Amino acid sequence: MDIESLLVHGDRAVGDEAAVAPVLFPSSTYRARDARHFAELATADRPQRFYARYGNPTLAQTETLLAQLENAEQALLFASGMGAISTAVLSLVATGDHVVAQQSHYMGTSALLTRILPRMGVAVSCVDQSDHAAFASALRDNTALIVVETPSNPTLALTDLAAVAELARSRGITTLADNTFATPLATRPRDFGIDLVVHSATKYLGGHSDLVAGVVCGDAARIAQVWQHAIVLGACSNAWDAYLLLRGLRTLSLRVERSAATALALATWLERHRGVAQVHYPGLDSHPQHALARAQMRHFGGVLAIDLKGGYGAAQNLLARLKLVSNAVSLGGVETLAIHAASTWEGSLTPEQIAQAGVGAGLVRVAVGLESERDLIEDFAQALD
Ligand SMILES: *Cc1c(COP(=O)(O)O)cnc(C)c1O
Repeated sequence: MDIESLLVHGDRAVGDEAAVAPVLFPSSTYRARDARHFAELATADRPQRFYARYGNPTLAQTETLLAQLENAEQALLFASGMGAISTAVLSLVATGDHVVAQQSHYMGTSALLTRILPRMGVAVSCVDQSDHAAFASALRDNTALIVVETPSNPTLALTDLAAVAELARSRGITTLADNTFATPLATRPRDFGIDLVVHSATKYLGGHSDLVAGVVCGDAARIAQVWQHAIVLGACSNAWDAYLLLRGLRTLSLRVERSAATALALATWLERHRGVAQVHYPGLDSHPQHALARAQMRHFGGVLAIDLKGGYGAAQNLLARLKLVSNAVSLGGVETLAIHAASTWEGSLTPEQIAQAGVGAGLVRVAVGLESERDLIEDFAQALD
């Protein structure tokens, strides 16, 4: 089936036979038939009807769909994107290992890699993701994991997934890609040879700014290993969020395609505005990795970033004047959201780390929603003038 049809029917075999919409299982615990059955449940791999931290039928239905979307054998849902990323990374590394990652990552991922892993005796090298030779030079004999994110937050730099997967495969290194920005509609990292794919399902997959969830997708053996850690670390999702996520997924293809088309139009318009120094968007010819974007993405996503000529003050002014566009974190919802990157990060990252991530003082990230192209351009026009 094509991905558009999978979104609607991919979980049918595991749902209730007759119910068209999913059945919710809010129960935290389940009765065993007898002592032998209880013992079976307690030692089973990912039991769905034992205790809700171990698994749940509603979650299993959503996971079945997510695995297919990412061309993976299995998927495991989490309480948040960070729950998914932290649990996956912690299940893949041990003291003495080395990890290669990017200079630019989602803030929480950066904190995990540069603050928490070193405390556990795991060394981390962060490289410029746009230079794929940099990944090769960073490898060591004890490299166990390569973490990538493409396009990355907030400068929309790309990572060459096939090149990274190729490097890792011959050396037995596991690769993990955060596919939140691209979504499986634009890029399926496993098609390029990546092992594990993670998402903040809070963003496009859920799509309505009303749930927090994460997912890890991959082969059965690695997902089993992640699950063993998941039940200990405890960042489990719940039936309500799994149900809302499944509801959001039904319309994923329509939402991301519209958002990407509007983002390209807005990026093209902004690039010509006299107050704008640069627009970062993989779909623009001016993007330094536009050729890679064409090879690796089916469309260019709904997130763009604008560097304003007026710097810090101009960015703050723009956000104060936008009317339709809200100044709020997150992305992937139906509404357009914008944030001033430098002021979002100055609390948790050093000025050097912010600069290293390529974030200028006047950088505004815009996550394009489903409003009309004309209304959005009009809002930016009145706010910039
Ligand atoms: C939001 C986000 C995360 C974290 O996800 P949460 O659901 O907020 O925990 C991770 N990676 C990327 C790229 C994100 O945008």
